[in-house]
Amino acid sequence: MKVGKDNPCGFCGHSGTCTTGIAKRNGTDTPSSNCPNFYKFSFKSAAISTASGPSTNRPIACLPCKIRDGALGLYKDEYIFWSYNMPTHLVKEHPGVAVTEAFHDSYAVSADERERLGFSNSQKRKRGPSGGGSAKRVHVS
Ligand SMILES: [Zn+2]
Ligand SMILES: [Zn+2]
Repeated sequence: MKVGKDNPCGFCGHSGTCTTGIAKRNGTDTPSSNCPNFYKFSFKSAAISTASGPSTNRPIACLPCKIRDGALGLYKDEYIFWSYNMPTHLVKEHPGVAVTEAFHDSYAVSADERERLGFSNSQKRKRGPSGGGSAKRVHVS
């Protein structure tokens, strides 16, 4: 299993040092990790960006990995990636694989969240770098 530098730990920021997974306890998903900086948090609230907790970075399971291995419903650490690292993982491990909207939404970083994290303050007039500048918008309704 190679996690390496593509999957930096969301607790301590180091790569390849910690194993983070998801455990099911009393019917609820809870994070588990051997990271020294590990702290318990609620997936439900972690998934929502707020002013006090802008980052939605949290361990999530890679759906394409599970589908590929026929392992839907299994809780294995090797399918768990930090949501901020998921796009990199998808490009590397599942090039060309279409993902469901729900799965995409689970790791997508909203414009609000970027703003709260201070990523989108610069160059508001510009539409970003040429070529890849169009932000993908997913509307549910
Ligand atoms: Zn760590
Ligand atoms: Zn995967």
